[in-house]
Amino acid sequence: MSSRRHTDIALIDEQGPLPRRTLRAAVTDRAAELAALGLRPGGRAVLCRPNGRRWITDHLALAELGAVGVPLNAASAPDEIRHAAADSGATLVLTAEGPGPPPPDSGAPPRSPVADLTDIATIAYTSGTTGRPKGALQTRHAVRLGGENIARRLALGPGDTVLSPLPLAHTYGTNVLNAALSAGAALVLLTRFTEEAVAEALRRHRPTVLAGVPTMYRRLLAHPELPLESLRCSLSAGQPAGEPLARAWQERSGAVFAEGWGMTELAGLASLTPADDPGHPGTAGPPVPGAGVRTGEGGELLVRGPFVTPGYLGAPEATAQILTPGGELRTGDVGRVTDDSGVTVLDRLKDVILCGGYTVYPAEVERVISTHPSVAAVAVTAMPDAVRGEAPQAWIATAGGGAADEAAILAHCRARLAPYKIPRRTTFLPELPTTAGGKVARGRLPR
Ligand code: ATP
Ligand code: MG
Repeated sequence: MSSRRHTDIALIDEQGPLPRRTLRAAVTDRAAELAALGLRPGGRAVLCRPNGRRWITDHLALAELGAVGVPLNAASAPDEIRHAAADSGATLVLTAEGPGPPPPDSGAPPRSPVADLTDIATIAYTSGTTGRPKGALQTRHAVRLGGENIARRLALGPGDTVLSPLPLAHTYGTNVLNAALSAGAALVLLTRFTEEAVAEALRRHRPTVLAGVPTMYRRLLAHPELPLESLRCSLSAGQPAGEPLARAWQERSGAVFAEGWGMTELAGLASLTPADDPGHPGTAGPPVPGAGVRTGEGGELLVRGPFVTPGYLGAPEATAQILTPGGELRTGDVGRVTDDSGVTVLDRLKDVILCGGYTVYPAEVERVISTHPSVAAVAVTAMPDAVRGEAPQAWIATAGGGAADEAAILAHCRARLAPYKIPRRTTFLPELPTTAGGKVARGRLPR
């Protein structure tokens, strides 16, 4: 592509470039179509399509109508779509096969924590890392901030081209879309992540910003040839990256590694490293404007801000568990926050291992084990220990799917970790349970 930036191009997807003007016209047409199908302000529509311009057009048309989108992973099974439609009270399902009414589900109607859904942009399902995905309500204001906060922290502008292999149906993917749109940057959207697709897009479109999750950056580091010269910034969120990965990627790409920390319940990131002040690799940066982050009981990170969810759809008990009387969100994550380096996320509070007076963060042990060459994926959980109460246990999938040299992996750990953090037991599995977004679901490991 020429050195002239794609300022009048909103999107480059599988079908090629889409000018801003064409997108705007398509959105107006689509909003009229959906209105003719009976969709009204506050009405719900399930959006279940692969990454691409149709997804984006539907998303923007729903916003224009004041309707509520219920984005689902494109690979969702018919049963999952039925369930989400019933759960959210959706009257329309927008899929690659065309819009239609949802087939009925025998479930009870949802009980919403807010009476009026017209302020709600999205009912977004969480990743399901710790249990069944929950439908978090995201207000219009929160969704707008989710995009704007990224655009501001990364200083995105019309001169930028943002490459995203993230699924649009996940809040992080939607945030990156909205960040690019709000800044007038061009978005290069991949249908799905592969190392080859990223390499090809880097070559063809010379993006200035890459968005991804740590797993993607880890896989890209193993790729021998990536034309990274055009990048000025790499955005990472969704999982802990860790300092070694942040440094390794920064060194390889020459671009700032901007880590952010967020969740579906915040419709975006609560903290993000500014592109012009990379500061502390391995930390998730200072709170975004308007956010207050502090630690509560057990080191749990609590977030205050205009983007905190009003609650989970139809789940008043679960809502009461995450919202404090003062309106803060209990994030379920444990970490630190300082004026100097911002937020450092250590792990999920419920996964912390208490081992005879010591606290072990599974994420730290996993990061060390994952750097061993025979390890493809790893999870660390607590196992009962007669003396210490709990001890770490490692679950490992190897590249070949078989067992690896356990003694070598433990020696690798001993060279890098204090004795109490060394796994007491190691189990090799053909593969580890993951969410659709590729996070290891520790809770779904065999008991
Ligand atoms: P569920 O809530 O259904 O169990 P989930 O929490 O994985 O799934 P998401 O909302 O997609 O669903 O992810 C938010 C979580 O991802 C955060 O609570 C945190 O645990 C993790 N996370 C996001 N960014 C970071 C980061 N930079 N460092 C560490 N963890 C992160
Ligand atoms: Mg969660």
